[in-house]
Amino acid sequence: MARYSGPVCKICRREGMKLFLKGERCLSDKCAFERRPYPPGEHGRRRIKPSEYQKQLREKQKVKRTYGLMEKQFHGYYKKAARKKGITGEHLMIMLEPRFDDVIYRSGFAFSRPEARQLVRHGHFTINGRRVNIPSYRLRAGDIYAVGEKSKASERIKEAALATSKGEVPEWLDVDAKNATGKVRDLPTREQISMPVKEQLIVELYSK
Ligand code: SF4
Repeated sequence: MARYSGPVCKICRREGMKLFLKGERCLSDKCAFERRPYPPGEHGRRRIKPSEYQKQLREKQKVKRTYGLMEKQFHGYYKKAARKKGITGEHLMIMLEPRFDDVIYRSGFAFSRPEARQLVRHGHFTINGRRVNIPSYRLRAGDIYAVGEKSKASERIKEAALATSKGEVPEWLDVDAKNATGKVRDLPTREQISMPVKEQLIVELYSK
């Protein structure tokens, strides 16, 4: 699957918020958004009132880029969410959140989502005892995930677990950092997804 490989800090500056795509750097004073909290480019500092379309587009890009998805894949999630009964925007967020790479990041086994995706791809984790290397795999309530036996010695994963163990793990996950395992207590509700996004704008954009 194709991936964005350009400068990631520009994405945060474009979206006007920290998307935490670079791990430890995001928490340091080297963060580009902290230093230059305005859009990149020659006219970045100019104040322009965004149109409705621009607001909708930016909201969509923000979510898409946070989860590291390409347009086709993101639109696929939207179409599935739109087929469900209820509020499409909420369904969309609830479908994105239990992705395997996101769960690994939220559990603190990686410093960022891009890193979590790479670790998953390299087969460092298991779900219910079986190795799974698909970042988009959606976990269900009751699933147990763990760092694979051979990967428990990985300094990087240990470092991440240690550094992030003091951080907040979402309440829908039970994480045992010491034994490098976790369990999905239940699928998240929209209120349990902390991302500040107006998903209704994404629905409006795609419904045109
Ligand atoms: Fe975004 Fe992290 Fe770069 Fe800061 S360091 S701009 S949060 S990717």
